[in-house]
Amino acid sequence: MSKQINVALIGNPNTGKTSVFNALTGLNQKVGNYPGITVDKKEGICKLPRGLKAHVLDLPGTYSLNASSLDENVVIELLLNKNDKDFPDVAVVVTDVENLKRNLLLFTQIKDLEIPTLLVINMADRMQKKGISLDINYLETQLHTKIAVVSTRKNQGIDTLKELITNYGMLNTKPCLDISTIDTTYFQNLKKTFSNQLLYKLWLVITQDVNFGKIQRNDFDALNDFKTKSNADLKRLQQKETIKRYQFINNVLKKGLIVNLANATDLRIKLDRILTHKIWGYLIFFVILFLMFQAVYDWATYPTDLIDEAFASLANWVKNTMPAGAFTNLLSEGIIAGIGGVMVFIPPIAFLFLFISLLEESGYMSRVVFLMDNIMKRFGLSGKSVVPLISGNACAIPAVMAARNIENWKERLITILVTPFTTCSARLPVYVIIIALVIPQGTFLGMSYKALTLMGLYIIGFLTAIISAYILNKVLKIKSKTYFVIEMPSYKIPLFKNVVFTVVEKTKTFVLEAGKIILAISIILWVLASNGPGDNFNNAESIIKTENPSISEPELDDKIAAHKLQYSYIGIIGRAIEPAIRPLGYDWKIGIGLVTSFAAREVFVGTLATIYSVGSASDNEDEDTIKSKMAAEVHSNGTKVFTLASGISLLLFYAFAMQCMSTLAIVKRETNSWKWPILQLVVMSSFAYITALIAFQFLK
Ligand code: GDP
Ligand code: MG
Repeated sequence: MSKQINVALIGNPNTGKTSVFNALTGLNQKVGNYPGITVDKKEGICKLPRGLKAHVLDLPGTYSLNASSLDENVVIELLLNKNDKDFPDVAVVVTDVENLKRNLLLFTQIKDLEIPTLLVINMADRMQKKGISLDINYLETQLHTKIAVVSTRKNQGIDTLKELITNYGMLNTKPCLDISTIDTTYFQNLKKTFSNQLLYKLWLVITQDVNFGKIQRNDFDALNDFKTKSNADLKRLQQKETIKRYQFINNVLKKGLIVNLANATDLRIKLDRILTHKIWGYLIFFVILFLMFQAVYDWATYPTDLIDEAFASLANWVKNTMPAGAFTNLLSEGIIAGIGGVMVFIPPIAFLFLFISLLEESGYMSRVVFLMDNIMKRFGLSGKSVVPLISGNACAIPAVMAARNIENWKERLITILVTPFTTCSARLPVYVIIIALVIPQGTFLGMSYKALTLMGLYIIGFLTAIISAYILNKVLKIKSKTYFVIEMPSYKIPLFKNVVFTVVEKTKTFVLEAGKIILAISIILWVLASNGPGDNFNNAESIIKTENPSISEPELDDKIAAHKLQYSYIGIIGRAIEPAIRPLGYDWKIGIGLVTSFAAREVFVGTLATIYSVGSASDNEDEDTIKSKMAAEVHSNGTKVFTLASGISLLLFYAFAMQCMSTLAIVKRETNSWKWPILQLVVMSSFAYITALIAFQFLK
């Protein structure tokens, strides 16, 4: 086996780490999670010259090693732990030539850990336009490193970088700053106590502890007793360190980087004037949002329908070709249908992320934050939360995934938690049929009551999302750091490769991670719906036949299906919950619908159709059949089941309840814990129950 070395890509956000990562690894990459937190862990394999191979890690963006949020902490934890299997043989610090001064702060810190460190100066293609020239030899000597000048956009410098990585053994590990100069006596004492440890590493461990409260770190137990300074003093020393570093960097750059402003262009200023304008800015943004919404809501339905049909015919084919029996049923109705149920989400996810990555890549997203942040911050949300909240009106799955672009963890979490309140398109079939049944004819200000009700439901969903965000912001105690937008990134033509990778990666992640949960639950639901204990289920056919001796074939099938569902395990659950849902105005048949629609809300309509034994007829041809059946339904005491009171109660229940296993699965994946989806399930469903209860009791 050839030797494999560890390479870690480190740098400030937006310097092009992921672009360099993509250039190095191609599609040999995979994305996972760091244990316990929600930061994506991207790793890949890169082939180097002379048969060497590198395991490349694309670390989350960080401004310095003075981490103060758990997200940033990933980088420092890795660099402090020589025993980590990912500990880098060589650290590659990626910088943006336009922000070199700020970017080099982190570089000097990593250098001082005496890890072999390479410097990538990226975005070289912009140097000419900005009038920047570099003295690479001078910079290499001053910074004690090797430099690769790279443009991932033009695909330049990557081979040089690979060559430098291959020769990482030759790198000089001399530090940039002698840390003891910030407080000589303190560091002398430290050195006496821990003579065999690197001083800067000790300093980082100590200050980590200051920034985070107590951390347990076995190797450094004695440090906990090393309390010769107050936390405030340590923070002051940290600031001193930063100032010293910038002095060093300024000195180096004075000779190493020359800017000739005469060559710079100002297209960006003109564009910004329009895109962040008080009127035009919002107008353009809402047009873009509308297009995104349209893409997920409308355009994605064509490929989605194709996928849906393809899996339906595959299931049919399996059913017809394989020997009849339990296994064939499991395969065709359980597994294949379940996989189909995962695949149908691919088009909306792909469409949404196509848009989002174009917006992020072009630099426009920073303008969105600039426009929307002030308003959204009041609700504990980020300017970027607008994207999930709007796309949630099509489907919560891609919307929840879109929240990942929000850097601040608290804002991201709140966005994820409230997005399912927005009215996704799966609620629509339920709304439409119930509104048609219970809302009276008539108009108000030229709009029919029915249309007004539907609009009202959309508004209620959105408002509930915003209000819950406000409450969550007050309730959740999460420490999470927001960066000021120090400067707006310049506009860029999106890199095609990056856009494609984002779309592929998001889709893959969804299918592989949320997909398995969705598949598992849908198989369980299927098993529960197509099996049942005792005679009533197993002999459904003969029971129905004896009860209805002279009945036509399709009607017979419908009646058998209804009978089976009634006595299946799901039917039993539906009946068992009847006492609980009676006060909301529902009967056990609706109860069964509530249980099955956990697979997807729109299944409610299909389930009712089966229970009212209009199954096959109602699906496509005749929606009126199911409607008239529902209208005619009566309770045992002769009163109607679907009245204004029970109808409104159902509408509200569907508006608020967390009735969607796929959303739960994606929330689990995005928050990397079951805590949040379960909280969502419990809180949203209780809220739905209470509002539906109040509505019914009030209206009946
Ligand atoms: P990361 O946040 O450090 O992972 O940075 P990304 O790889 O996501 O890149 C940030 C932005 O810089 C994206 O819009 C990229 O298209 C852009 N970018 C990356 N490399 C280059 C480059 O070499 N030249 C130019 N002009 N833009 C680049
Ligand atoms: Mg990145």
